[in-house]
Amino acid sequence: MNLLSGLSQQVINKNPNEPEFQQAVKEILESLEPVAAAHPEWMDAGIFDRIVEPERQIIFRISWIDDKGVVKVNRGFRVQFNSAIGPYKGGLRLHPSVNLSIIKFLGFEQTFKNSLTGLPIGGAKGGSDFDPKGKSDREIMSFCQSFMTELSKHIGADTDVPAGDIGVGGREIGFMYGQYKRLRNEFTGVLTGKGLSYGGSLARTEATGYGMCYFVEEMLKANDKSFKNKTVVISGSGNVAIYGAEKAIQLGANVVALSDSSGYIYDANGINLDTVKRIKEVERKRISEYVKFHPTAEYHEGCIGIWKIKCDIALPCATQNELDGSSAKILIANGCIAVGEGANMPSTPEAIEEFLKSKVLFGPAKAANAGGVATSALEMSQNSIRYSWTFEEVDDKLKAIMSDIYIKSSNAAKEFGFEGNLLAGANIAGFIKVATAMYSQGIAY
Ligand code: NDP
Repeated sequence: MNLLSGLSQQVINKNPNEPEFQQAVKEILESLEPVAAAHPEWMDAGIFDRIVEPERQIIFRISWIDDKGVVKVNRGFRVQFNSAIGPYKGGLRLHPSVNLSIIKFLGFEQTFKNSLTGLPIGGAKGGSDFDPKGKSDREIMSFCQSFMTELSKHIGADTDVPAGDIGVGGREIGFMYGQYKRLRNEFTGVLTGKGLSYGGSLARTEATGYGMCYFVEEMLKANDKSFKNKTVVISGSGNVAIYGAEKAIQLGANVVALSDSSGYIYDANGINLDTVKRIKEVERKRISEYVKFHPTAEYHEGCIGIWKIKCDIALPCATQNELDGSSAKILIANGCIAVGEGANMPSTPEAIEEFLKSKVLFGPAKAANAGGVATSALEMSQNSIRYSWTFEEVDDKLKAIMSDIYIKSSNAAKEFGFEGNLLAGANIAGFIKVATAMYSQGIAY
């Protein structure tokens, strides 16, 4: 079967300077070959050609003033990828590496992830090349307000509902929400990840990390295994990594490593999460500070070495392409039995090939980290009915959603000839709902 390879090449030719976007499209189209064969009507309706093209891409200037009174200029993005099954939904990333390729790959992936949650949300992503590191609160506020001044023209509670991602947490969402409200004179659920005092949902902060562990636990359970007494290595030390570590520990694992973009810490006794939360969430300092409080722990410069630590379960929760083929080989040689992707596209195609070849249980990002956006959709529901569910109510819904995503991915893999390959299964299950909706809605011509 080679029904979609021409399309893959077309995407490369049309988007020549976008390696991350090309990588994401190639991965998905490869697993959709049997779906294309089973649905000639979708081929005829151009569903595959349409799904790889964003519905709308917005690029804009953000000017703001730093603490020295100097005018700064950054570039902002919002890519509204697909609205077939609901309003656009997806996070905002603030990181110097942000460019159109990264935002498009994230928006494309988001379309399938959001579909997998079973909730009515379309796919989008946005952000800016602004670097929040080392900026004062006032500078962050100035940037966020300027960013929202433009973004507010393109979003709305029933149109497009952004959330957080790398570099965007509660503080940034607060500044952006305040600015939206000032500009529009509307108190609506236009952003998720809001503070609890103004419409945020309990358990949203924990949702991506917790959800990833619920998914991995399902995957382990199906193979007569669990987190209990397992050694776990987690990259990153942001929102996803911290709450992934918290849930893994609650499920009985020993989490021994975390990292940031400078280096990683190894604590054989088990990472003390209170220390990590204080350093990263309160003081906003580097992970290297950890060893000052736990002198038996080690700090190593550079991120990639974290995968040399012997572990049973690896959870990459920092950024795209952070786990390459040679790191995968080391993990496998060290006896790693499962990988759950908390970050988006953290494993390179070579790493994924190694995991699948060696029968390592592999929980792909769009399934394993969907708990964040699912809980964001639950925040939207609570905003619509002007009501707040308890932590337990939201957490129970999250657990049910993650279990359902596991079942859907696993069943789709089996049905289309990829038994045991959750990556292909998640791609197919996510795609089918969006494709069905696009087909029903016709083509505007
Ligand atoms: P945070 O900003 O809270 O944390 C990001 C972490 O990753 C930090 O430790 C950061 O280190 C590290 N990191 C970022 N960029 C790089 C890089 N280029 N190289 C090495 N390390 C890096 O972000 P989140 O925890 O929210 O997001 C982490 C991942 O999870 C991303 O891929 C995101 O898209 C994905 N995700 C997040 C969701 C959410 O709800 N927040 C939902 C679904 C997916 P440093 O501080 O040094 O930059």
